[in-house]
Amino acid sequence: MSDHPTVRLKPREGRRVRAGAPWVFSNEVAMDVATKALPPGSLVNVKGDDGREFGTGYFTPSSLIAARLLDAGSNVTIDAAYLSKRIVRALALREALFDRPFYRVVNAEGDGLPGLIIDRYGDLCVVQIATAGMERLIEPLAGAIELALAPETILLRNDVAARALEGLASEVRPLKGAVRRVAVEENGVRYFADPAAGQKTGWYFDQRDNRAFAAQLAKGKSVLDAYSYTGGFALAAAKAGAREAIGLDSSAPALALAEESAAANRLAAKFVGCDVFEELERLAGAGESFDLVIADPPPFVRSRKDLEPGAKAYRKLARLAARVTAPSGFLVLASCSHNISQDRFGVECATGIARAERRSSLIRSAGASSDHPVHPFLPESAYLKTLVYALD
Ligand code: SAH
Repeated sequence: MSDHPTVRLKPREGRRVRAGAPWVFSNEVAMDVATKALPPGSLVNVKGDDGREFGTGYFTPSSLIAARLLDAGSNVTIDAAYLSKRIVRALALREALFDRPFYRVVNAEGDGLPGLIIDRYGDLCVVQIATAGMERLIEPLAGAIELALAPETILLRNDVAARALEGLASEVRPLKGAVRRVAVEENGVRYFADPAAGQKTGWYFDQRDNRAFAAQLAKGKSVLDAYSYTGGFALAAAKAGAREAIGLDSSAPALALAEESAAANRLAAKFVGCDVFEELERLAGAGESFDLVIADPPPFVRSRKDLEPGAKAYRKLARLAARVTAPSGFLVLASCSHNISQDRFGVECATGIARAERRSSLIRSAGASSDHPVHPFLPESAYLKTLVYALD
């Protein structure tokens, strides 16, 4: 047991935490002088004005999400043993889901560890800390990772934008071992990834199931993978027997890795450096089409104020992608923007496809793979939407 200071809610405040969410917003907290003076990320007990105890969490007075709960009990000691139990629990879930050790092993609140992401590439773990509260726990956390996973290498990829909001610096450095390039095994393909310099932690684990689904449709077909990054969809399709697979991306390092992976797996796939909107216009103008088209762009709605222009960009992408989808072809459209709902994204995709004068039916509507569990009272943290349409 520890002796944490107590943070109290204002009268009648805390709607979401009372309903079961692990978050308390700053406007819900009674910000007296002592509370305001707590160092960012302090461990605290959270209590309602009615005396209800919400448990132990960490608290950053200047953050919009001021408190994030770790445990339902008050004064709980958060040490390496505590954190390792959480990681072991998260690991057990992944081991039940996957044969090979390549997955997101900790997905923040979804695994009871707010502010923390750990991606596992065999014996290399990439750790991403997004909050001041988790940053303060870095020492016990390093011990917990050792206890639970004992990886050869631990890389800190603390360069996510959210850190700035918590007053944290951006840094990428090894916590243990020497950082190197890795290979991810997924859907029967070995993909190269660069955890130190690649996007996210080097690989988009979230699209695993959607890549497998798309690959099922690819046998004997021509495939266009727009925003291919390191070749996730294109190489899964090639492995499944696609007649032709082309990846488009603007990132030269991502395409270089994609090409290396294609060669190492003896798969025929072509990767082209370009702007996707321009290339789709060009392909459509040249009358080219593909049996399976995938468009998995970067987030077009980065903040709530970008909703309208971002929604329009998704609609335009759907229209251009539908134009290069062959008759009776399939179109996979994805959005990784937190700030657009599944419904709105679906409307934009459907409208874009219709504007290309194509009839379509929605055959799959999916999110991230199961190694991205979502806290049941934080549905908004399910950011990925991947829709699959069959076109006439
Ligand atoms: N489908 C990928 C993930 C895509 S992430 C996978 O399965 O792993 C989005 C990609 O879009 C990034 O690789 C980024 O380099 C690329 N990108 C961003 N803007 C682009 C543009 N205008 N044209 C082409 N590619 C772009």
